[in-house]
Amino acid sequence: MQPVEDFMHEFFQAHADVERAKLAAYRSFRDRFFVDGYEPFGTYELRHSCEAERIVSVAKAGLRTVVTTSTVYWSLQLQFRYSLLARGGSWVITKVEAFCKVCNGSGRFTHDRRCTRCDGKGWEVLAAEPIGSN
Ligand SMILES: [Zn+2]
Repeated sequence: MQPVEDFMHEFFQAHADVERAKLAAYRSFRDRFFVDGYEPFGTYELRHSCEAERIVSVAKAGLRTVVTTSTVYWSLQLQFRYSLLARGGSWVITKVEAFCKVCNGSGRFTHDRRCTRCDGKGWEVLAAEPIGSN
């Protein structure tokens, strides 16, 4: 069984590679429409954010393993939470969540109103799990 940390480091590297490829594909578009050196869409920062991502914690949650990570995007400190399932001697990611910056993870606004961004969970689901994955 591949250690979950090895899987996540492989994921971080592959994610950075994809962002690098997207940046290369984007370059001709940028060169056509924008002044030299102007990067309005932050692909450079996104790639660096992938390269800077680090594991904060690994925890078992039933059949799942939950990996919390940390990175920096522009000047924002971001945290992600990946839910993984064991598959074929390695892992697959079934859900990705981001720490809610609106309520700072509390799930609440002022006056104890539930945070509408994360639905009161403190973590925002970036992409829901496909039906049948759990
Ligand atoms: Zn929230």
